[in-house]
Amino acid sequence: MAGKAKSHLFAANWKMHKTVNEALDYLHELRPLLHPKHSAKVYIAAPFTALKPLAEETKKEQGAFPIAIGAQNMSDHLEGAFTGEISAAMLMEIGVKFVILGHSERRRFFHEKDDLIHRKVSLAFNAGLQPLLCIGETAEERKAGKTEEILEKQLSECLKEIKKELGQKLIIAYEPVWAIGNGHAATPQDAEKSHHFIRDWLGKNWDALTAEKVSILYGGSVNGTNAKDFLKEKNIDGLLIGGASLTPHSFSEIINLN
Ligand code: PEP
Repeated sequence: MAGKAKSHLFAANWKMHKTVNEALDYLHELRPLLHPKHSAKVYIAAPFTALKPLAEETKKEQGAFPIAIGAQNMSDHLEGAFTGEISAAMLMEIGVKFVILGHSERRRFFHEKDDLIHRKVSLAFNAGLQPLLCIGETAEERKAGKTEEILEKQLSECLKEIKKELGQKLIIAYEPVWAIGNGHAATPQDAEKSHHFIRDWLGKNWDALTAEKVSILYGGSVNGTNAKDFLKEKNIDGLLIGGASLTPHSFSEIINLN
């Protein structure tokens, strides 16, 4: 069945929450809450300051279930005079495994456009980081019936000239902007329609086998109650979770559905 051969991926997006101490406490509380037999992939995107301590802590926990630590952004340059920026190499050096790129909050508050996001996706791949690319339409675009047009544009610009061999490392999060952080999630059926469109687009631009290997996550007001309905959908491979990932209890509740 499309999208269901792989285990579900649950990615926490902490946004600008948690000091180093709070992040480490969270990690220590999360482990015992996870069902020992769950087969999910667990990713945590933390603030820059917490990345190294978290990556070191997860490395120490040998034999334990692996948790991938990721950043929420990075520079579109390799290095240089870019005050305040963090490069892909800096992330790789401290054990970061993935990076969220093109989140709607970066697009909205920091004016990130698809061409910039494309440069970041290329740099992430080149450095060996797994990009978690966020795409999705705004409420106005949806009302105007432009959802697929917007997804097409974001996919073609952000993934321009990315080789299909890299596809299996790619994670895409479909995050309708109107559903983020407000308790009004998309219906699983509406989300599935967009996920199907994304998978189809990947199949046409790369090939069907590669398209199957891409993890396509849904994000937008997911919680412990609605999560299981999204996971039943054929093309939904996992979830990107903001608010409900902020406590180990609410995040583990979702992971344990797997
Ligand atoms: C997000 O911002 O990526 C997100 C999915 O947030 P929330 O779950 O709070 O809607």
